[in-house]
Amino acid sequence: MHVNVKQDWDLHCHSQFSDGKLSCPDLFNLAVEREIKHLVLTDHDTAAGYRAAIDNNWVPNSLKLHPGAELSCVWKGRSIHVVALGIDVQCEGWLAVEQAYIERREKRFERILFVLRRAGFECDEARIRQIAEPGPPARPQIAQYLVETDQVKSTAHAFKKWLGRGTVGDVKSQWPELDETVKTITQFGGLAVIAHPHRYNLTWTKCKEMLDDFNAAGGEGIEASCVGMNPNMRKFLIEQAQQRGMYISGGSDFHSPNTSWLKLGYFPQWPRPAKLAKDWLLANSQLQGT
Ligand code: AMP
Ligand code: MN
Ligand code: MN
Ligand code: MN
Repeated sequence: MHVNVKQDWDLHCHSQFSDGKLSCPDLFNLAVEREIKHLVLTDHDTAAGYRAAIDNNWVPNSLKLHPGAELSCVWKGRSIHVVALGIDVQCEGWLAVEQAYIERREKRFERILFVLRRAGFECDEARIRQIAEPGPPARPQIAQYLVETDQVKSTAHAFKKWLGRGTVGDVKSQWPELDETVKTITQFGGLAVIAHPHRYNLTWTKCKEMLDDFNAAGGEGIEASCVGMNPNMRKFLIEQAQQRGMYISGGSDFHSPNTSWLKLGYFPQWPRPAKLAKDWLLANSQLQGT
């Protein structure tokens, strides 16, 4: 059996409001095609897609869309992502949080352009902004620009040499700290879930330390059911969640229909019974009436 199983929910995916390839309507249609009942749109640092979907009536009847975002932050100098599930994304306070992220991203974009130009790249700022529309420019769109202008051979290469962890373009000083980010999420009624813990290149000891800090700040969820996570890591994370009484979350982290090995609504199974982030979301949505 393939490790990624078709689920009828997905708590992690992206649209064009961040670095996803699909528009919201196309993403929701795909979700309906896959028979997904509950979807959380978790664009990077924004829930603009959720608000647009509600305002424009984009959500099909058979799909329940829940508000969310994937927030960028740092822990001990490393870039970490935290998924915020079920936050109140319409209130003034949250809108101010999003605005602060847009400003951080603008500052970071300027800095990345500076270091890339210094390294000899030609960067057409207007073109990169155009690729990123309607979102603010982020590293995937910078990588796409470098590929389309034949300055690098692939997106993967752009990340490996120029934009990814440990390279000159890995500018992260502007992000808030992990504990502050968790507090923001809980302040706006959300469940904070540590995103794809296998992608931070941490030893198990360091990972436990991160979970300790995350949990101490009020973070209650671990994304233990991720595409591409090796089974040992998954087992370790599920144990960590169980020992700490934390919620297990899962999702595809879908960005594009062109990625053959990653499909919306497909991710690994978890042991049952389990304390699931999905159940938290269902109970909470009912409370909020969203
Ligand atoms: P940013 O929001 O600007 O920090 O960009 C982070 C995003 O870049 C992640 O959410 C991924 O979608 C994408 N990304 C990270 N590493 C890679 C990589 N090695 N190759 C392609 N895309 C990547
Ligand atoms: Mn992304
Ligand atoms: Mn992420
Ligand atoms: Mn993501």
